[in-house]
Amino acid sequence: MSDDCIFCKIANQHLPVELLYQDDLIAAFRDINPQAPTHILLVSRAHLAGVSMLTAEHAALLTALCTTAAELARREGIADSGYRLIVNSGPDAGQSVPHLHIHLLGGRSLGWPPG
Ligand code: 5GP
Ligand code: ZN
Repeated sequence: MSDDCIFCKIANQHLPVELLYQDDLIAAFRDINPQAPTHILLVSRAHLAGVSMLTAEHAALLTALCTTAAELARREGIADSGYRLIVNSGPDAGQSVPHLHIHLLGGRSLGWPPG
């Protein structure tokens, strides 16, 4: 865990943010600035700066992030209407928090291509 990382603090419950899901590898919580009716962030509990830090050793972490995103989509009632998983990496993608996270967005029609 990184002491100055907001997602490390949230994922390890050092801040009073409601977790929708947690296990030993990941945590999920609602985005503070939602871009859709459902906007959930799924994050690693360990500090990793982003998707470019992943190696084959993180296979279980990636599986947990994706299967939990699908389960939360079901819980949110958007599994059938559809949803999008987004990972922003680096400045051109607009990554603003340097801690691995996947956005789960749904509950409205999402435009394509993204901006
Ligand atoms: P990124 O731009 O890095 O892909 O996504 C970071 C996301 O984290 C943004 O959608 C932003 O609204 C969200 N975010 C930033 N700080 C906080 C926070 O303190 N709490 C929550 N719940 N979300 C945050
Ligand atoms: Zn972190």
